[in-house]
Amino acid sequence: MMLNKQGRQTTPNAGADNSGPAGGYATIGGHKGLEHEEPLIFEQGEPGRCGVDLPAPANVAERLGGLRRKGAIGLPGLSEPQVIRHFVRLSRKNYAIDMGVFPLGSCTMKHNPRLNEKLARLKGLGDLHPMQPESTVQGALALIDELAGWLKTLTGMPAVAMSPAAGAHGELCGLMSIRAALIARGDARKRILAPESAHGTNPATAAMCGYTVDPIPATADGRVDLEALRAKLGPDVAAIMLTNPNTCGLFERDIRQVADMIHSIGGFFYCDGANFNAIVGKVRPGDLGIDAMHINLHKTFSTPHGGGGPGSGPVVLSDALKDFVPLPYVIHDANGYRLVEQDESGKSFGRMKGFHGQMGMFIRALAYMLSHGGDGLKRVAEDAVLAANYVMASCDDVMSPAFAGPCMHEALFDDSFLKDTGVSTLDYAKALIDEGYHPMTVYFPLVVHGALLVEPTESESKDALDHFIMVLRGLAERAQSKQAADYFHGAPYLVPRRRLDETQAARKPVLRWKPAQDNKAAAE
Ligand SMILES: *Cc1c(COP(=O)(O)O)cnc(C)c1O
Repeated sequence: MMLNKQGRQTTPNAGADNSGPAGGYATIGGHKGLEHEEPLIFEQGEPGRCGVDLPAPANVAERLGGLRRKGAIGLPGLSEPQVIRHFVRLSRKNYAIDMGVFPLGSCTMKHNPRLNEKLARLKGLGDLHPMQPESTVQGALALIDELAGWLKTLTGMPAVAMSPAAGAHGELCGLMSIRAALIARGDARKRILAPESAHGTNPATAAMCGYTVDPIPATADGRVDLEALRAKLGPDVAAIMLTNPNTCGLFERDIRQVADMIHSIGGFFYCDGANFNAIVGKVRPGDLGIDAMHINLHKTFSTPHGGGGPGSGPVVLSDALKDFVPLPYVIHDANGYRLVEQDESGKSFGRMKGFHGQMGMFIRALAYMLSHGGDGLKRVAEDAVLAANYVMASCDDVMSPAFAGPCMHEALFDDSFLKDTGVSTLDYAKALIDEGYHPMTVYFPLVVHGALLVEPTESESKDALDHFIMVLRGLAERAQSKQAADYFHGAPYLVPRRRLDETQAARKPVLRWKPAQDNKAAAE
């Protein structure tokens, strides 16, 4: 907000240059159509303004023992409509899977059926407290146990640890199980092998567990190079961390051989299961020789994520690892369900989390599984793979698929279709925003130059995909035209904020508001 000398608000754009490309038109007051410019809530607050009328407190004796706050509380003073408008305006600046195609590769942004939400809010489930006596939560424990049963069946694995709170947390759990198993046999090892295309959480997890990470190169067709892998094997290798389908959207065809190779040197096979959506109901990871794999419930089994809710990353474990689990876990016998909170076997590595896992996510995931059934889940994988191949095949003449042949559930392009246009992957992605789409994942995986990773998921209709494809193609064609670079370099035009300084925002985030005179950056 700008104030003139008399303290009156000035009209920031009254004399602005209204020329320029689409969206360069400046309005008088700063709003853009029905999209409102929105100052921080603190900038709108006035001391003393309040949303409720409360009677002044009667003269009561001070009972704070001298701990009464000395300064102002520092909250903005606002009326109720101001608060409502503030948050509604902010919510309208969000893009969401409920608004349109969200093609963010590697993240499996699929529709979250409202049935899941309804069930998660059932009073008997939504109002549970994790410290309730066991006898009063038998249904909840049965639900966790039933979900665990589905996960074991779908993966062909004998055990599952339910408590990890996200994919990365599941990786940590899996590696801690592996480390506990190695230590139990008196064979602490040092090295973890991970493909160059691995998601960043894989090497980060390995490092967090005290391992060094040794990258395995890929072949020209985007898969693990078996010869390079063989050369890296040794008695100090604790495990390999492999993603399948991998982050290039390709199925690792040699996965059985990889399993045999790692087992032959006494190491474990960790699989990053974030891409399970492509194979759920079709392939059981247990049949592929995997020892541990996390499942992102918030990806494969719907449930909101990406700012919309917590994750959940249960880890399935093989026979070799099934005793090295985190606490607590659910067991049941003739007397009902019981939470094992104390280590009875001496093999558990301890707790991952304060309580028992993300209950709300468990409910949503089980609702999703039960409403699809086994055959429906298989269809999910088939439709997700079909949708990605439809996108890839529909664009392969104007964009450049990174690898030959069909893909799994994500279509990966490199930036060679933009060669000599002056348009970069980033420019292309920014132009998608003006077209009403959240961009796809860009510059990941790192092994592909200027990567664009598109994951449509099974929940998009053919109409939605056709419109998205039309835009992808149109932008690719526009990039080839003369003067295209100028247009792309300026995109996006139709948004409240154009290009942010992402490096500055990441390196020097302004996370706390201070009054304008203290902090120039915060006021901007
Ligand atoms: C999403 C993802 C992860 C991490 O999962 P979070 O739930 O975000 O912690 C790990 N690996 C791959 C391949 C992923 O796509």
